[in-house]
Amino acid sequence: MKNGYSRREFINRLGLSGIVAGFGAGNLFADQYKPGDDELKSGKILKDDKGKSAVLRSGKIFQPERELQLKSDVDVLVIGGGAAGVAAAISARKLGVNVALVERYGCFGGLFTGGLVLCLIGTYKKIDGQPVQIARGVNGELINRLAALGDCGITKAWKDGKDPNADPEAAKYMLSEMVRESGAKVFLHSWGVDAIMDGEKVRGAVFESKSGRQAILAKVVIDASGDGDIFAAAGAEYAKYSRYIGLVHRIGGLPLDKNVNTPIKGVKWLNMRGDATEDGLDVETLTRLEMDYRKKIWDSVEKFKKTPGNENAFLLEIAPQLGVRTTRLLKGVTHLAYDTAVKPDVFKDVVGIASGGGASQIYISYGALVPKSVDNVIAAGRCISMDLKVAETCRLIPACFTTGMAAGTAAAIAVKDSCVPRDVNIEKLQKTLKENGAYLG
Ligand SMILES: Cc1cc2nc3c(=O)[nH]c(=O)nc-3n(C[C@H](O)[C@H](O)[C@H](O)COP(=O)(O)OP(=O)(O)OC[C@H]3O[C@@H](n4cnc5c(N)ncnc54)[C@H](O)[C@@H]3O)c2cc1C
Repeated sequence: MKNGYSRREFINRLGLSGIVAGFGAGNLFADQYKPGDDELKSGKILKDDKGKSAVLRSGKIFQPERELQLKSDVDVLVIGGGAAGVAAAISARKLGVNVALVERYGCFGGLFTGGLVLCLIGTYKKIDGQPVQIARGVNGELINRLAALGDCGITKAWKDGKDPNADPEAAKYMLSEMVRESGAKVFLHSWGVDAIMDGEKVRGAVFESKSGRQAILAKVVIDASGDGDIFAAAGAEYAKYSRYIGLVHRIGGLPLDKNVNTPIKGVKWLNMRGDATEDGLDVETLTRLEMDYRKKIWDSVEKFKKTPGNENAFLLEIAPQLGVRTTRLLKGVTHLAYDTAVKPDVFKDVVGIASGGGASQIYISYGALVPKSVDNVIAAGRCISMDLKVAETCRLIPACFTTGMAAGTAAAIAVKDSCVPRDVNIEKLQKTLKENGAYLG
């Protein structure tokens, strides 16, 4: 090993070997271990309630009707803790309403962190030839906090008006702190599985976790699941697409003096486009891609290691979250069609501007977040109402933070003004967004 870290050295340098040994010490020598009284007392014998399980009748499977435990009753419920969901929860809390945030994995950031999609494309937009930071508000605060962590949080390029790349662990940590500080009630390891309906109005969502199937009631639900899981369950109209699905990875052990695209020396990030028409809502497709891509990546890293200068490279990490780009796109009050969305002054209800991905700017209409018919649900992030060309820009990470901010702010205003999201006062919404740092042009 000349000038890069081996996998073992890399772990040692991060101090992880010590941490792993420390955490594991209690379990290393099972024969020396004696359970304490409290542990022994916790070993209760239980039998789950009868009548909850599905039943097989005449070759068909039925699920009996049952009452669900009400876990929480809030003003705003956000399903999904990716860029959009985190921004929505924080922005709604800023206006003083009660917020619950439900996320299926154990961390925040969604594809940005769990999907290892680290490059914040569209942080800047060129105005009169000069880069102007448009990733502001929650996204701007995150960038500042990552920069304040020193060399490990975000690449320095952002200071020169270039889109920065973040470190996934630093971003997960910072997002977690920002959510904690917001005071939102958080449910991690919880999968939103259904909408709770009262006629045409959404009144909350059902979620599933190790605690079983439970319910949260809310005045407004924000669907930030990326795939529109909740607005679809609520019966809102949407278009469904099969698109590129990738799996992203990082390689370590590169020469320390080599220029890399992550904040950590010797570590490189590799994005993946994938095949054009894959169904991100089909579990068998997701399973096949996960397994095939894993082999592909392993083989490609083995090849890479054989190239001069990269002998000490190793596969540091494959994203724990498969990279699904686009599945359901809402049919909203406004549909963002490329030809009109690039023009200023078309929409009177602009709640943010997105850039990058081929468009110098997309004006985001609030109507693109609101379903045509179903009430009390707002979409945020990569599943808002748009055509595929607009999606190339509006599904980028900064744009998802932007629509998340707009959704959270609108939801809070709807609660405070006792109106449905489609009737939110647009002037008030735009004014509040600006006060909280959003860039509306
Ligand atoms: C391979 C790939 C490469 C990309 N490259 C770039 C790039 O270089 N730069 C860039 O800016 N953008 C890039 N993008 C786009 C960008 O990463 C995503 O569009 C963006 O991060 C989406 O944010 P989101 O919050 O809308 O959704 P997501 O990040 O998908 O977040 C949704 C969150 O909701 C959770 N969730 C989902 N369903 C449920 C449920 N039913 N209940 C509870 N929780 C749920 C998920 O776990 C996740 O945390 C890329 C995307 C992919 C897939």
